[in-house]
Amino acid sequence: MNRKTVLAALVGFIVLALVPVFTHNPYYIHLVETIMIYAVLLFGLDIVVGYTGQVSLGHAGLFGIGAYTAGVLFFKLGAPFLVILPVSIAVTALFGAVLALPALRVSGPYLAMVTLAFGTIIQILINEMSFLTEGPMGIKLTKPYLLGVKLDEQSFYWVVCAMLALSLVVVHRVLRSQLGRAFEALRGSPVASDCMGVSVYKYKVYAFVISAGFAGLAGCLYAYSEQYISPNTYNNELTVMFLLAIIMGGRKTRLGALLGATIIVLLPKLLDDLDMFRTVSTGLAVLMFVGALLAVSRRVTSVKAMAVPVLGTAALSAFSYQLENITDWRLSIFGLMILFVVYYLQDGIVGFVRHLLSLRTQGEVTHAAAVVSDQASVIRSAKTGQENLLVGQQILMQFGGLKAINQVDLRIKRGTIHGLIGPNGSGKSTMMNVLTGIYVPTAGSIEFEGRSVVGRTSSDIALSGIARTFQNVQLFGEMTALQNVLVGLHHTFDSHFVDVALHTPRYQREEAAATQRALGLLQFVGLADLADEQARNLPYGKQRLLEIGRALALDPQLLLLDEPAAGLTAPDIKELVAIIRKIRDHGITVILIEHHMDVVMSICDTVSVLDFGQKIAEGKPADVQANEKVIEAYLGTTAA
Ligand code: ADP
Ligand code: MG
Repeated sequence: MNRKTVLAALVGFIVLALVPVFTHNPYYIHLVETIMIYAVLLFGLDIVVGYTGQVSLGHAGLFGIGAYTAGVLFFKLGAPFLVILPVSIAVTALFGAVLALPALRVSGPYLAMVTLAFGTIIQILINEMSFLTEGPMGIKLTKPYLLGVKLDEQSFYWVVCAMLALSLVVVHRVLRSQLGRAFEALRGSPVASDCMGVSVYKYKVYAFVISAGFAGLAGCLYAYSEQYISPNTYNNELTVMFLLAIIMGGRKTRLGALLGATIIVLLPKLLDDLDMFRTVSTGLAVLMFVGALLAVSRRVTSVKAMAVPVLGTAALSAFSYQLENITDWRLSIFGLMILFVVYYLQDGIVGFVRHLLSLRTQGEVTHAAAVVSDQASVIRSAKTGQENLLVGQQILMQFGGLKAINQVDLRIKRGTIHGLIGPNGSGKSTMMNVLTGIYVPTAGSIEFEGRSVVGRTSSDIALSGIARTFQNVQLFGEMTALQNVLVGLHHTFDSHFVDVALHTPRYQREEAAATQRALGLLQFVGLADLADEQARNLPYGKQRLLEIGRALALDPQLLLLDEPAAGLTAPDIKELVAIIRKIRDHGITVILIEHHMDVVMSICDTVSVLDFGQKIAEGKPADVQANEKVIEAYLGTTAA
C-alpha cells in the first residue's frame, strides 16, 4: 500500500468512527454498523471469489455458523465476549474446512451446487437442532461486556469499527504475501501453479478456510449487533446478495467490498420507499450520463457501448415516476440490476471508475531501479551425482486409441542440454506433460534422481526439482512480472498465516529475500525494467522469457523448455540462446523442444527425434541431422 492509500484509509476510518458523534439516531448508527459487519464478511468472500476465482454460495451459511456459535455460547454458557469472538472465528473456519475439503475437488457449476447445498443444510440444521439453537424461536443476546464495562449501542459500534480495521489490515497483509500470490496464481493458471510447486487444491482450501474465518467474525458481530438471531436470516437470498456485492463493488479491492456492503444494506431499504427510489434512480441516471460523457471524451469507450446503460438508467428513472407501488416490482428491479452489472460492470464500480481514470491497480512500488549486485547467487547451481538425471523406460501415453507416446526410452544426462525434436503432433509436449505429472503415463517407468515420478502430483514433482515452461504461455496474467517470479519462489517460504498477519521477522526476512532474488532472476532474463508490468501486458517474446525466469525460481535440477523460441524475433532468439547456455553453466540440465533447427544444432549436446510418438533417432546433433529417417519425417510433413 502506498502512502496515499494508507492516508485515505485512515481518514475513512476516522470519519466512520465519528458517525455516532455526529448522529445520535440509533437507526443510522445501526445501519452503518451493519454495513461494516457485511464488509468484514465480503473481505473474506473476495479472497475466494476475486482472488482464487471460485464461486461460493455457502457464505450465508458460514455467516450463520458464526452468529450461532456466538449465540449458543452466550445463551447456554454465558461465555464472555473475548472468548466468544475467537471461538466463533475458529468454529466457522473449521466448518469452512469441512465444506472446502470435499467441495473444492470440483469447480464451476458443481462447486456452486455443493456450496449452495451446504448453505441450505446449515439453515435446516439451525432450525431443527432446537436443543442447541432454540430452533425457529431464535436466540436473544445482550450487548457484551468488554474489560468489565458493559458496551452500549455506541461503544459496540466502535468495537465493530476496530474489527473492520483489523480485518482490513489482516486481509491486506495476507493478499500481499506469498499466500495471496498463491491464491491469485491458481486463478491465473492452475496448471502453471501446480508446476511451480503451488498446489492448486491446497491453496483453494486454504483460501476458503481463511474466508470462512472472516465470515465467522462477521457472524459473531452480527449476533451482538442485532441482539437477536433466528434461522431464516441466513438464507440463499443473502448468499446471492453477498456475491452481488462483490461483483458490483468490484473484485480484488477492499473499497469495492465496502461499497458492495453499502449497496446490499441500503438496497432493500431503497426498494421499500418509492420517493427515495425515484430520487436515487434519477441520481443514478445523471451519474451514468456524466460518466458516459467522460468515458467517451477520454476515448475509454465508444458512444455505442455507452448507449444502452445511459438510456437504460434514464428509462428506469422515468419508470420510477410512473410507479404507484414499488413492492410488486422489487424482485424485477433487483433482477434488472444484476443483469446490468453482469453486462456493463464486470469489474464492478471500483474497477469501472479506475478504468475511467485510467489508474493502475498494480505496481505501486517501483522496483525497476533496483540493481542486484550479486548475480551469481541468483541461480542456485544444480547438484552433482550419478550420470543419468532422468531415466524413462518404455513410456506409453495413450489417449483413447491414439498412442501419443509409443514405448519411448529416454535417458537425460546430468548437466547437458537435451534436444527433443519432431514434426507437429509427434508427442513432444505430451512427453513434457508426462514428465511433470500433468498426465500419468499409461505404461512405462520414469525415474528422476532415482525416484519414480509416475503417479505423483505436479506440485510434488515440481518441488523435487523439475521446472518447466509451456508451449502456449501460461503466465499469471493479472500479476506483475515480479509477482510471477515470486510465485516460483513460493517454496522458499516457511511462514504461515499467523506470520503473515503479524508480519513476524521470519516473514519479513523471507519476503525481502524472495523479492531480492526475484529481481535478480528478472535481471537474468533481461526483464528488470518490466518488473512491475502486468504479465498479460508484456510482448509475447518477453512473456516467454518471464516464464523461464519463473521456472528458474524453483531452483530446478531439470528445466523443460517447450518451444521457447516460438514467436521470438531474431535478436530475442540470440538472447534466449545465451540465457539457456548460462543456465546449463550452472549445472542445470535442460530438455529443449524447439523447431528452430539452428538453435537446436548450436546448443544441444544430444538430440532425440520423435515421430508419431516413436523415437526414430538419437545422437549428436550433426548425426541426427544427417539421419535419413529424420529427413524423411520432416520432409513428409513440413519442409524444415
Ligand atoms: P507436439 O508437441 O509434438 O506437437 P503433442 O504432444 O502436443 O505434439 O501431441 C501429440 C498427439 O497427442 C497429437 O496427436 C495430439 O492431438 C494428441 N494429444 C495431446 N494431448 C491430448 C489430450 N489431452 N487428449 C487427446 N489427445 C491428445
Ligand atoms: Mg507441442
